[in-house]
Amino acid sequence: MSDEQMSSGARLDDVCARNYDPLPVTLVRGRGVYVWDKEGKRYLDMMSAYSAVSHGHTHPVLVAALIEQAHRLAIVSRAFDTDRLTPFLARACAMTGMDQALPMNTGAEAVETALKAARKWAYRIKGVAEDKCEIIACEGNFHGRTLGAVALSTEPQYRDGFGPFMPGVRIVPFGDAEALERAITPNTAAFIVEPMQGEAGIRIPPAGYLARCAEICRAHRVLLIADEVQTGLGRTGRMLACDHEGVRPDGVVLGKALGGGLLPVSLFLASRELMSVFTPGDHGSTFGGNPLAAAVGLAALEVLENERLIERSAELGAYLLDGLRRIVHPAIREVRGKGLWCGVEFDPRLLRARDVAERLVEAGILTKDTRGTVIRFAPPLVIEKAELDWALDTFQRVLDSMTHPRGAQTA
Ligand SMILES: *Cc1c(COP(=O)(O)O)cnc(C)c1O
Repeated sequence: MSDEQMSSGARLDDVCARNYDPLPVTLVRGRGVYVWDKEGKRYLDMMSAYSAVSHGHTHPVLVAALIEQAHRLAIVSRAFDTDRLTPFLARACAMTGMDQALPMNTGAEAVETALKAARKWAYRIKGVAEDKCEIIACEGNFHGRTLGAVALSTEPQYRDGFGPFMPGVRIVPFGDAEALERAITPNTAAFIVEPMQGEAGIRIPPAGYLARCAEICRAHRVLLIADEVQTGLGRTGRMLACDHEGVRPDGVVLGKALGGGLLPVSLFLASRELMSVFTPGDHGSTFGGNPLAAAVGLAALEVLENERLIERSAELGAYLLDGLRRIVHPAIREVRGKGLWCGVEFDPRLLRARDVAERLVEAGILTKDTRGTVIRFAPPLVIEKAELDWALDTFQRVLDSMTHPRGAQTA
């Protein structure tokens, strides 16, 4: 490494892999729904780190829990029990209606855990012949970036150059329950699904879809695994997005907001029968379930209840969706959402979502385009109505200024 790179004069592109293309802003501080850059400019965070910051930035109760636990005991590995893990998992199980939980760190790791559990269940309990197990996933899914999660992906860029992939994956269209039924074979272990697709651009399936999938899975003895890493913990206005249809899956994956915006904390939660396939030594994680993460995760669940964040998401989400639907611009194709989780889809011939995101950053709103055509609005659930009003006004103003789009492709 050169002297220049060693000094603080190095630029991100000099020293960091180019696996992201960040919007042009360098953040230094955050509090609640706001973050500030090096120059002291304030931004409203309408992105919440893909829902990891549902509690808002540096929530004082969560920071206090983190510091208190950091002073007491932080990491011991799962070779030993701690006084923090059981209360955390008990709370998480109670709040989601699941029997047991397996702690990991990132969402993708908890997805891997779900896949391993499903496969072992298929062999040991359902009776699928060794190495014949199949998993069904949805077109357009996002389950993370590990090789197992990428094996489920239908996004060419996420797969290109990373093969060969885990076999035994079948893909069905999202939102089509009958296609799921047709894809099931005697070797099917599980159907893994985001109840509403996040990275695909806030895609909400037809009403009744998930309930019908649950029926089909039950009838064919296939596990239903809900990846609620992004939709869970109140983001869509219910504790789990599954709750909108009264569906109780066999397994649930949680992450992102579970860390209270401070740490990576994830869980695979399941029925006792499904979790029973794991025996000591089968699966694990050095950091998963550490007392620091458990203390923060428990506090994050408590704050969710104490501050009525789920109810806020439902109420203010309806307000945000209504406000976005009132915004007029010829390039807007569709506005959709559930809870404080909305997507605005643009006609790419008229406006590029990335250009809109860049203009919004200039105007003081942080958000992110997804799949090229959608802008996502997913603020911390602690946001106030007046802040939403400001965001809606600013969004309309930015779109008005883009009537002659910068860099848009012509039809
Ligand atoms: C973000 C996300 C993941 C992956 O979580 P990481 O913490 O980034 O590994 C998995 N599933 C869904 C639905 C997600 O949105």
